[in-house]
Amino acid sequence: MVTRVQRELAGKRVLVVGLARSGRAAVDLLLRSGSRVVAADRRCEAELDHFSADWRARGVELVLGEHPRGLMKGIDLVVASPGVPLTVPLLSEARERGVTVIGELELAYSCSDTKWVAVTGTNGKTTTTALIGELVKSSGRRVAVGGNIGTAISGEIADLPPDGLVVAEVSSFQLDTIETFRPDVGVLLNITRDHLDRYASYRDYVAAKFRIFENQTSSDYAVLNVDDKLLEAGAGEIPGLVVPVSRFREVDGGVFVRDGQIVSQIGGGEIEIMPVSELGLPGPHNLWNSLAALAAALLVDIDFVDASDVLRTFRSLEHRLEDVAEIDGVRYVNDSKATNVDSVKYALMSFDAPIIWIGGGRDKDSRFELLKEPAARSVRDAIFIGEAAAKMAAALEGAVPVRLVESLRDALELARTMAERGDVILLSPACASFDMFEDFEDRGRRFKHEVARLKNTAGALDGKEGTA
Ligand code: ADP
Repeated sequence: MVTRVQRELAGKRVLVVGLARSGRAAVDLLLRSGSRVVAADRRCEAELDHFSADWRARGVELVLGEHPRGLMKGIDLVVASPGVPLTVPLLSEARERGVTVIGELELAYSCSDTKWVAVTGTNGKTTTTALIGELVKSSGRRVAVGGNIGTAISGEIADLPPDGLVVAEVSSFQLDTIETFRPDVGVLLNITRDHLDRYASYRDYVAAKFRIFENQTSSDYAVLNVDDKLLEAGAGEIPGLVVPVSRFREVDGGVFVRDGQIVSQIGGGEIEIMPVSELGLPGPHNLWNSLAALAAALLVDIDFVDASDVLRTFRSLEHRLEDVAEIDGVRYVNDSKATNVDSVKYALMSFDAPIIWIGGGRDKDSRFELLKEPAARSVRDAIFIGEAAAKMAAALEGAVPVRLVESLRDALELARTMAERGDVILLSPACASFDMFEDFEDRGRRFKHEVARLKNTAGALDGKEGTA
């Protein structure tokens, strides 16, 4: 199926800036739409994968390294990757020349004719997006899950039938470059301080998140976590129909918890869906994610019985409170994706057992003192690594005993000697990973690798004891 926008793209000269995953998917989508594509990246040919040769064969004009003068001449549209700041000279020049700059999300949206569910928030986007994807699949409906979650949406929409559904995780960076993007169901989970390196102010970051609802009309839905005061305060400005979710109070027309039961008032009337205690995802934050995902699913007509089955069986994704192993009665949990204070706050609230907490990494100008209270309640010992270790130790002074070590391996080895049967050893950094690792996934994998090593030595010791 070719949409109106796709027809309009045919023959147009479109410049794609930034050729990482989403830029590459944009190029492919534009080629399918019959556009004449110019693809630019700061990197040189050797740093790009093999795809450049194939593109050249398909008529793509590749501009690598420094952008030549006059690159913008004759360009009808610019598609910018989310990793490229909107302030780079090339994009400023485009705007000065009156050339529209959109992101890959906007491009994918414009070229698709199915319904869209879009999820944003500071934390919980990936989990909630994946969960909604599973909920939709349970109904037998075709679904394309993508966006910030790891697969570019542009690459996912091609084979979707008109009655299929797109479920997209959208970051604030992607929302910075929308024009007409209008999800049938938009979900906003929470907003806390993060990414302040990329926004002039916290206000700008908040405004970027609310743009998910910007083009909605009263026939669209806005699923809003009203336990977040900032979101509740912004509800009045949203043009879509607000569907509130709350884990603390009954909310008219929304999804909430009453006496330990998840209740939905979506579509008039009231249905008890399931007990909170049966949810597959752990922790108070994941209760919000589950309520929001359920609301979105019910709004796109997923049967509540199917939905509750999925909510029971859905488990944490990799690097998000991921249960890794139990060694000598101690549980090891990988929460490497917790790169900001709020996510760690909830991680610390997610266990009944005492926690040996491993944190640290590259500071994002965070207020670690906000972790004092939850840490004092649940953490027995804290071990910090990386650039932020000393700042974190100072912020947590008096709340928990803190030790600083050089590496993740040292941290785990120390944690192991400190832990008692029944404890949880939790990696939940509250920081970016780039001081010591490639990214949060690398950090999480290294954690798991070290845990596997500990397990082997524990096994070896057990073996020795067995034969003695
Ligand atoms: P995102 O895609 O927004 O980064 P993820 O689902 O990948 O969200 O989770 C990132 C981190 O935030 C994980 O450590 C996870 O346990 C935590 N988290 C998930 N949902 C929430 C939430 N609603 N509030 C706070 N922290 C959350």
